[in-house]
Amino acid sequence: MITTDQEQWLRVRGRLRAEVGEDIFSSWFARMELDGLDEETVHLSVPTRFLKSWIQAHYAERVLVCWRGEQPNLRRIDLAVRSAVIRSAVPPKCVEPAATPPRNGRDTKFDGIETRPATAPIVAAHEALGGSPLDARLTFDSFVVGRSNTLAHAAAKQVADARRGDAVMFNPLYIHAGVGLGKTHLLQAIAWAGNRHSDRKVLYLTAERFVYGFVSALRSQTAIAFKEALRGIDVLVIDDLQFLQGKSTQAEFSHTLNSLIDAGRQVVIAADRPPADIENLDERVRSRLAGGLVVEMGMLAEELRLQILVSRVAAARQHHPGFEVSPPILAHIARSVTQNGRDLEGAINRLLAHSKLTGQPVTMELAEREIRDLIRPTEPRRVKIEEIQRIVARHYNVSRGDLLSSRRTANVVRPRQVAMYLAKVLTLRSLPEIGRRFGGRDHTTVLHAVRKIENLVGNDNSLAEEIEGLKRQLQE
Ligand code: ADP
Ligand code: MG
Repeated sequence: MITTDQEQWLRVRGRLRAEVGEDIFSSWFARMELDGLDEETVHLSVPTRFLKSWIQAHYAERVLVCWRGEQPNLRRIDLAVRSAVIRSAVPPKCVEPAATPPRNGRDTKFDGIETRPATAPIVAAHEALGGSPLDARLTFDSFVVGRSNTLAHAAAKQVADARRGDAVMFNPLYIHAGVGLGKTHLLQAIAWAGNRHSDRKVLYLTAERFVYGFVSALRSQTAIAFKEALRGIDVLVIDDLQFLQGKSTQAEFSHTLNSLIDAGRQVVIAADRPPADIENLDERVRSRLAGGLVVEMGMLAEELRLQILVSRVAAARQHHPGFEVSPPILAHIARSVTQNGRDLEGAINRLLAHSKLTGQPVTMELAEREIRDLIRPTEPRRVKIEEIQRIVARHYNVSRGDLLSSRRTANVVRPRQVAMYLAKVLTLRSLPEIGRRFGGRDHTTVLHAVRKIENLVGNDNSLAEEIEGLKRQLQE
């Protein structure tokens, strides 16, 4: 059977996803694209330098092995950083910093939609502060509010509308959600709207920019200059906090966060997980984060997906009046593409590209073909450590507090070990992280528990069945 490169890539992605798990896949590989394939080399690209270096350091071999399942002769992965320049009929999906040449709001075309000239001064001011590029399409106007994001939207609006000197209502505002559920959209909307007030400065930074730009600039200056720089910022917005890694960077972040909050400035943060699940975070920062307003955005409901599609088509039609997608087709896409907003955007971009290139109307058949690979099988549910603790405690008739306590009586020790074991096999959390969540235990304790249960399960059928039963309950 002959298959296209893209079809092979799809299978490779599937393999990779299965191997590394959904969390890691979505953090590192969701935006990896196939650029081409030749005899010995597969050419892939990612939107930022940071992703590139991370993937090269940690996953290059894994990716190559997954590719060899399709092309046994492959020897090399060539990983490039995509630029924001439109390379093909299907435009890149997301503007990210570092890799992109600075955009100044006057360079017009992006994704077929003109950057509004009125945004130019905002962009210039924002870039002067060292901010990450802003995408002119990601504003409150284009953000569709639904049940899953009402609270996050209201909080973001509140932050954006506040004036200098207003009392800060919640600080920091911490928004978390899975990939493609609108975090970046909301954060950039805050940056656009906030900067319209001439007396306020809103700085939007991706965590990577925070590390490579802001922090290094601050490091080269004195403590006084540091305070000066911060004094000029009213709202600091940091996207994708989960990428903030490394002790000294986190120390710097912690310092910045504390200075800003103490000075009554607003901090807004987005991440793909709640504060408790960000690994290796300084305890003080964690409690500071948890002490603000923590809001989760849920999955996009079908109704919301449909509205997003409708607004995307309307936006595209401003520049391509001939582009039309009938309501039944939109309804079909909304029903089928369920996982995230990026895929919805991708679906419309493909239809738009097709319609522009061929001049043909968009038919249901075309839509079905174009979105085939965006339809994902439903993924196994993510299991949370608290849930494991709750269910295990109930099963063994002890309390969750017992599991976290230092008590060492047999009736608590075994359930605790079972819970740690399940946390290891059902979540992607590291041993130290699991230890922390079990009352601040050492990772060697967790490792011991995992080994212990593994051994027991091998010899004790009833325990093995018990654990299978618990797993089933947790994964339902
Ligand atoms: P995240 O940062 O959470 O991964 P993004 O903010 O990049 O997600 O959103 C992915 C895509 O989905 C973007 O094109 C965004 O505009 C769109 N999107 C997500 N939620 C909404 C929404 N509520 N209204 C309009 N567009 C949305
Ligand atoms: Mg994002």
